[in-house]
Amino acid sequence: LAGAASQDASPLGEAPLDVARLREEFPVLQRKVHGKALVYLDNAATSQTPQPVIDVFSDYYGRYNANIHRGLHTLADEATAAFEGTRKTVRGFLNAPDARQIIFTRGTTEAINLVANSWGRANLAPGDEVLVSMLEHHSNIVPWQLLAREIGFTLKVVPVDADGALDQVAYLELLNERTRLVAVNHVSNAFGTVNPVADMAVAAHRAGALILVDGAQAVPHQAVDVQAIDADFYAFSGHKVYGPTGVGVLYGKRELLEAMPPWQGGGEMIRTVSFDGSTFAEIPHKFEAGTPAIAEVIALGRALEWVQSIGLGAIGQWEQELLRQATRDISKIDGLRILGTAPHKAGVLSFVVDGAHSQDIGLLIDQLGVAIRTGHHCAQPLLNHFGVDATCRASFAAYNTREEVDIFIAALNRVIGMLR
Ligand code: PLP
Repeated sequence: LAGAASQDASPLGEAPLDVARLREEFPVLQRKVHGKALVYLDNAATSQTPQPVIDVFSDYYGRYNANIHRGLHTLADEATAAFEGTRKTVRGFLNAPDARQIIFTRGTTEAINLVANSWGRANLAPGDEVLVSMLEHHSNIVPWQLLAREIGFTLKVVPVDADGALDQVAYLELLNERTRLVAVNHVSNAFGTVNPVADMAVAAHRAGALILVDGAQAVPHQAVDVQAIDADFYAFSGHKVYGPTGVGVLYGKRELLEAMPPWQGGGEMIRTVSFDGSTFAEIPHKFEAGTPAIAEVIALGRALEWVQSIGLGAIGQWEQELLRQATRDISKIDGLRILGTAPHKAGVLSFVVDGAHSQDIGLLIDQLGVAIRTGHHCAQPLLNHFGVDATCRASFAAYNTREEVDIFIAALNRVIGMLR
C-alpha cells in the first residue's frame, strides 16, 4: 500500500503525515490475514504499536528489570527513573500543572473506578445526583451504578439527539444544586461524537459539581489540555494511543487528589504501617498500591513521545480525511445507515445494513483481511436507544490509508452481496 498522505499543513503548523513512512514502524501492518494484506480498522478498540514502543519491553527486561522506588541498586534506579520519566511525559501530554497529579492505573476503567471508590465514597450521599451521558462506555456507567446501589444517590442521564450528539439544553436542565459530578466521555467510542467538554465543565462548575472526563477515545486524535478543559478528573488508556495494554492514567486536580482517601491498600502507597494504624504516602503514590506495570508505563511514555513527534494536529486532520472519504463512499451503499452523524466527530464510522447482520459482516469481512469491530461496543444503552443491538464500526488511526478505505468499501460491498 502506497498511501502517502496529501494534506494541507495541520492547524498546529505540524508537517503533514508521511503515512507510507509511518506504516513502516508498525510490524503488524506488514502481516497477512487469510492470505490478504491486513487492513486494520479496529483502532477504537486497540491501536497498533510502533517498533520504538515494542522495543521498550526487550530493553527493560533485557537490561534493567527491577522493582521501582524501593531499591538502591543501579537497576532499580534506572527503572525508577524511566518509570517516573513517563509521569513527566504524561504531564506534558495533558498539560497538567504538576507530575504528581498523574496517577498510573491499569486503564481508563480502573481510573474511573478509582474516582468512584475514593472520591465517590467520601463525597456522595443519598439525595445527591451524578450525571452520566447516553454516550458513555459501560466503564463510565457501571462503577456509578454499583456505588449508587450502595450509597443511594441518583444516577441521571444526559440524552442524545438523532445525530448522536449530547443534548446540551437537556444537560443544562439536568444540572442542579444536587448534582455532585458529571461523568462524560470526551469522544464517544461507539459513534465518534466529540463532546464540548470544556463548555460542559463551565456549566458543571457553575452548578457546584465536578466533571470527570473519560478521554480514552480523545487522546489518540487531538491534543488535550486538561487545564483548558478545566477537568477535575481526566482518564485515558495506553493501548488506544499506540501504547501497551495494562496501563492507563488518571489526572486529577491536586486539591481533590490530596483530600481523597486511598482506594487500594498495600505496598508503595503507605508512609508508615503499624497495627495501631497506618499513614499514607503523598500523591501520586497514595493511589498506586503494589508493584505497577513498570515496562508498560515506560512504554506508554515512549508511545506518547512518538505521538507528539508525529503531531496530534496532523494525525487528527488525516483521520478526518479518511472519515470523509469513507462516509462519502459508504453512503452509496443501499440500505446502509450510519449511526452517529454529529458535525463534530472523530474518525469512527458506525453503521448497520438492512438484511445483513453486523456479526456476519464482521466475520466475512475478516476473511478478506479487513478488521472492523461488530457488537455493542460496550455502549448498550446508546445502541438500544437507536433501536439496534449491534453495529459495525470502522475506526481510523494515523497509519490508515486512502487505499485501505477503498479496500474496506469494496470488501463491504462484496460481503453485503453475499449476505443479501
Ligand atoms: N471509555 C471509552 C470511551 C472507551 O472507548 C474505552 C475502551 O473501549 C474505555 C473507556 C475502557 O478502556 P479500558 O478497557 O482500556 O479500561
